[in-house]
Amino acid sequence: MDKETRLVIIGGVAGGASAAARARRISEDAQITLIERGGYVSFANCGLPYYIGGTITDRKRLLVQTPDSLYANLRIDVRVNTEAVSIDRAAKKVNVRSVTDGTRYSIDYDKLILSPGAMPVKPPIPGLDNDGVFALRSIEDMDVIVESLDRYKPTHSVVIGGGYIGLEMTEALRQRGIGVTLVEQTAQVMGTVDYEIATSLHQHLLSKGVDLRLETSVTSITSEDGRLTARLSTGEEVNCGIIIVSVGVRPEVTLARDAGLEIGPLGGIVVDEYMRTSDPDIFAVGDAVEVSHYVGGFQTLIPLAGPANRQGRIAADNALGRSSKYEGSQGTGICKVFDMTVGMTGLNEKTLRKIGSAYEKVYVHPLNHAGYYPGASPMTLKLLFDPNDGKVLGAQAVGTDGVDKRIDVLAVAIRAGMTVFDLENLELAYAPPYGSAKDPVNYAGFVAANILRGDVQIVNAEEVANPREDQVILDVRKDFEVATGTIPGAVHIPLDELRDRIGELPNDKEILVYCQVGLRGYLACRLLTQKGFRCRNLNGGIKTYIAVTGNAPKVAPKPSVPCNDSGVECPGLIPEKASALSVSSSRVVDARGLQCPGPIMQVASEIQNIKEGETLTVLSTDPAFMTDVRAWCHSTGNVLVEAAAEDGHFKAVISKGAPVQAHRAIPDERNKKKTIVVFSGDFDKVTAAFIIANGAASMGSDVTMFFTFWGLNALRRPGKVRVTKNLIEKMFGMMMPRGADRLKLSKMNMGGIGLAMIKRIMRRKKVPSLPELIASAQAAGVKLVACSMSMDLMGIKREELIDGIEEGGVAMYLDRAEVGNVNLFI
Ligand code: FAD
Repeated sequence: MDKETRLVIIGGVAGGASAAARARRISEDAQITLIERGGYVSFANCGLPYYIGGTITDRKRLLVQTPDSLYANLRIDVRVNTEAVSIDRAAKKVNVRSVTDGTRYSIDYDKLILSPGAMPVKPPIPGLDNDGVFALRSIEDMDVIVESLDRYKPTHSVVIGGGYIGLEMTEALRQRGIGVTLVEQTAQVMGTVDYEIATSLHQHLLSKGVDLRLETSVTSITSEDGRLTARLSTGEEVNCGIIIVSVGVRPEVTLARDAGLEIGPLGGIVVDEYMRTSDPDIFAVGDAVEVSHYVGGFQTLIPLAGPANRQGRIAADNALGRSSKYEGSQGTGICKVFDMTVGMTGLNEKTLRKIGSAYEKVYVHPLNHAGYYPGASPMTLKLLFDPNDGKVLGAQAVGTDGVDKRIDVLAVAIRAGMTVFDLENLELAYAPPYGSAKDPVNYAGFVAANILRGDVQIVNAEEVANPREDQVILDVRKDFEVATGTIPGAVHIPLDELRDRIGELPNDKEILVYCQVGLRGYLACRLLTQKGFRCRNLNGGIKTYIAVTGNAPKVAPKPSVPCNDSGVECPGLIPEKASALSVSSSRVVDARGLQCPGPIMQVASEIQNIKEGETLTVLSTDPAFMTDVRAWCHSTGNVLVEAAAEDGHFKAVISKGAPVQAHRAIPDERNKKKTIVVFSGDFDKVTAAFIIANGAASMGSDVTMFFTFWGLNALRRPGKVRVTKNLIEKMFGMMMPRGADRLKLSKMNMGGIGLAMIKRIMRRKKVPSLPELIASAQAAGVKLVACSMSMDLMGIKREELIDGIEEGGVAMYLDRAEVGNVNLFI
């Protein structure tokens, strides 16, 4: 290679800047010119949503390098605001144009590297060019989005597309206190994972107050007086102040195509394993190229920063005379979605099915670290592997903590060609705050290897949902777990009773066993198989069953619990003395900073993740918490072991259930039903109603909220919905607030100033917003009933209400109120 190679690089961000820096490290003599159409080079495009959301506060931190620093440190001639308009391959020249003054000139090259990235896909939606509709790709895009948000202060937004950028922007906008309608055309967000993994994200988005519309598309966008209206395929209209379009990207290949370089069937530049295009002196990298899939071997597009950076390095090596090979991309990715993380590597099940490859899968739901160390949280890990040799083909995980580490370990395992047997033997870093002696990755390996060794056979959720005549479903969980819901038709024999009660099972039928997450099902299967039964274990337990089928299991009627050997029931008896309990481990929920009903909601949710007899330690700064937690324990059969104030916070230690379960209170059905009539449409009153409803639901109550007259406004969709109305109905509709975000304070509203103040205080004190409270109430099973008579009187149509609302009349309300023991009128 000529010592003074003229290396020209087009595109100055991930792939291009990496190539330039690497080139200088290889050759001090090369003349390196970096051409960038935009005003910035080497910026952190992955960080843009976090600046918009306010997590990154200093804009300068996004600019990893500048033209000056690249020249000072690496003597790279950087030309920003300069567009490469054509390539003269015969003359080996790149023709460029200054974006600022239109000047044109050409640059000679010996070797050329293209890293022009990708363009956001523009879906064919009429009105996409309206002001206020944005895509996010560059610093310039980010700046105009931030400027628009700061200037117009929209209260609601629409995000089109639920991929990485759509999800990150949804979080960013919510972080700025803006309502989000997230519209996704398919049945799931984050299309790079399988549906049952995405369902956790759906729940989480709803709990964060996101108006998630799956299997819905935006059909048109209109603008009137600065207000945008997105019309949905469902016929509804959503009014908003800003729309973010994030439906994917396509390779930017105009320059390459015009220069006669080969473009592949997927629309990307064709390169060989040395990142060389069809012209031996031109290389291409990043989002613009088609790559070979490391696991599947097929050609694909994987627009991610890691591959772009590594390809940039490899292209620079080869352009300057070295020989480096790119081995393909495996699609390792990760995304933060509010408090959850979703990650993936290798092939997903959808792709394996599409390409017709043989595969097997397992689901495990381990904790991120030792359960007894505070803050442990469960994750769902799905492992796909070759049923013949156990080779790992792909993995996906979702959870609040520890997902990144497991996906990275599994990404390395795939690179190393490891099998599930290798996963069993991986020695991974362990101490209680970080992991478990059997790490989730080992654990997934054990489960998969057990299947391949023939120790257990598995059955998937789809089959259990539709059992045959010659199959019996067996639930081996404990009583209190069964009370939370069961698969219809299942026979219940707890695992520890199975040996004694094995005679109750038919030996001419196949037994489909399940437990909560799969472990006890496996143990039951081992027992049954050795006793001659045909038996399979439900893959991932009932937790995966719910995610796959979308069916919440049927809640079984409350078992009657005898309190003594004679079988006589003892209602209402709760042991007072904690000393009777064996406290096996404690998990800490740090709810400090959360306002009512946040802490008690956390308790209700976290108690699900511990076993009977284990304890939950809860820290809270909410003064109402101590009264709440006492009442909650009383009505749910859990035991308050300790209640104390220390170091500026309150501490409660709760023991789940009790080994003295025979003494557990059998709650009177009446005590579990609450009705709330929401007559008022005032923000403060409706908020109070939802705080009570959420609290009651978290204490296990069956809550019905009945919305009548002005209260109906809280249930209206924020956007304008096109429905047929007469003149009076239209006038009513215009005068009344549209949805929870538009309600006013009953007192001291002061033209909205008081309302803004109270909302700010709520945000600061971490009280969920009203839309979030509504979403969490719905997620907790609170029934929201719209009074059909009031709807008729006020001209409010069904389509104008948010999803999940039932319509009902007075009889329905009275029926529910009659069986309840609390009835509030707000
Ligand atoms: P880019 O980094 O996009 O650079 C291409 C550059 O080429 C552009 O600046 C463009 O202006 C310039 N250019 C194009 N044509 C010309 C021309 N004719 N003349 C001169 N210049 C030209 N990936 C991850 O792995 N993780 C993430 O968390 C992540 N988050 C992201 C968040 C956002 C908001 C965005 C937009 C992307 C994110 N990505 C993420 C994707 C990642 O940024 C890309 O895969 C990566 O930047 C691709 O690198 P590239 O060099 O191919 O293209």
